[in-house]
Amino acid sequence: MKVAFATLGCRVNQYESEAMAEKFIRDGYEVTDFSEVSDVYVINTCTVTNMGDKKSRQIISRARRQNENAVIAVVGCYSQMAPGEVSKIEGVDVVLGTRNKGDVVYYVNKARDEKEVQVHVEGVLKNNKFEELNIEEYQDKTRAFLKIQDGCNRFCTFCLIPYARGSVCSKNPEKVIEEINKLSEHGFKEIILSGIHTASYGVDLEGTITLVDLLEKIERLDGIERVRIGSIEPAFFTPEVVEKIKNMKKLCPQFHLSLQSGCNATLKRMNRRYSAEEYENIVNVLRENIKDVSITTDVIVGFPGETEEEFKETYDFLSRLKLTKTHVFKYSPRKGTKASDMPNQVDGNIKEERSKALIDLNNKNEKAFIENYIGEDLDVLIEQEVRDKKGIYEGYTRNYIKVEVHDMPENMKGQIVNCRIEEAKEDYGVATYLK
Ligand code: SF4
Repeated sequence: MKVAFATLGCRVNQYESEAMAEKFIRDGYEVTDFSEVSDVYVINTCTVTNMGDKKSRQIISRARRQNENAVIAVVGCYSQMAPGEVSKIEGVDVVLGTRNKGDVVYYVNKARDEKEVQVHVEGVLKNNKFEELNIEEYQDKTRAFLKIQDGCNRFCTFCLIPYARGSVCSKNPEKVIEEINKLSEHGFKEIILSGIHTASYGVDLEGTITLVDLLEKIERLDGIERVRIGSIEPAFFTPEVVEKIKNMKKLCPQFHLSLQSGCNATLKRMNRRYSAEEYENIVNVLRENIKDVSITTDVIVGFPGETEEEFKETYDFLSRLKLTKTHVFKYSPRKGTKASDMPNQVDGNIKEERSKALIDLNNKNEKAFIENYIGEDLDVLIEQEVRDKKGIYEGYTRNYIKVEVHDMPENMKGQIVNCRIEEAKEDYGVATYLK
């Protein structure tokens, strides 16, 4: 029996798909590519934008076309938020919510045996279990995503996640350390600590453990060489936190700080809990204290009520800050959120123009950041051979510059090698191998 996965959305979903794949392998399944004919298709959905729902539906019908007898399981945030809608999509056999993904093999087998649609969507607040780490699921990877936290208590006005995933739930620190040791024993050099709102790590645990305490514990471990934080709220970086992390050797100097808007009025309507000035101050403090730090971000354009002046504030803000990379999203209303009922929704063409303007700005900023490193020697964790470029490998520096490495010996996947950056392309650097 074969199973194939399609994963939409965030890194937590990627991690959970890997955990589900492992469960199928243990049940005797072979994991295959989604483009192949398979006996089971699992679609791990996202509902952060309407595009997520639309894309999920397209993928479901693609799976159906590939094998009309396959069992199709739709799991994750879209199923959690709209189980009735998902179960009515033609061909869907299993519908599981965000906290029922762990039972996917059982329900897939049950749907096949009983020829009945299985819908299991538990209330998000009831169950705070994390999947067991199983090393097999990480095969062929060089960096390991490790989920340390789920859920969010913030309720930004555009976001459904607190409804889809429930309140903050953190993995016990002893468990995190045990899993990192296990990954390191299996040769992983880099761990990415992932979660929905990682800055909230620990608020639900007994005692006073925070994300910084966890980073300090990881810093003391032997073995693992790099630790990255997936995405983090700007307000996490208080002066005390910066003081503690600035000399950490394992923590990679790259932080994804979601901005969403550089205009205070828009931030307020979004219910983000920082001002543009506070954000800028945090960026400056990080740049002053952490060598080679790279800051990436997300921005939403066309949020309800965003006027031309408000957008210009965001544009000017990003022009001034010159962050390494900006992921631009066009606002898309999500039913059930406060923002979807706000007046002055922005026209699609205007969103398109604003998005394009920020993408152009990003392209310049990203290339300029890489250009700063031309002639410098940096460590690169090698991930794979570049497709269609025999003998050229790609990997990432500690501050997350994607690099194509030339003149490298074979079999270096998973190794950290020293390279000299020779050239900056739009979104990656070209380097030569030194040793
Ligand atoms: S912080 Fe805001 S955007 Fe992020 S998951 Fe929580 S509610 Fe959603």
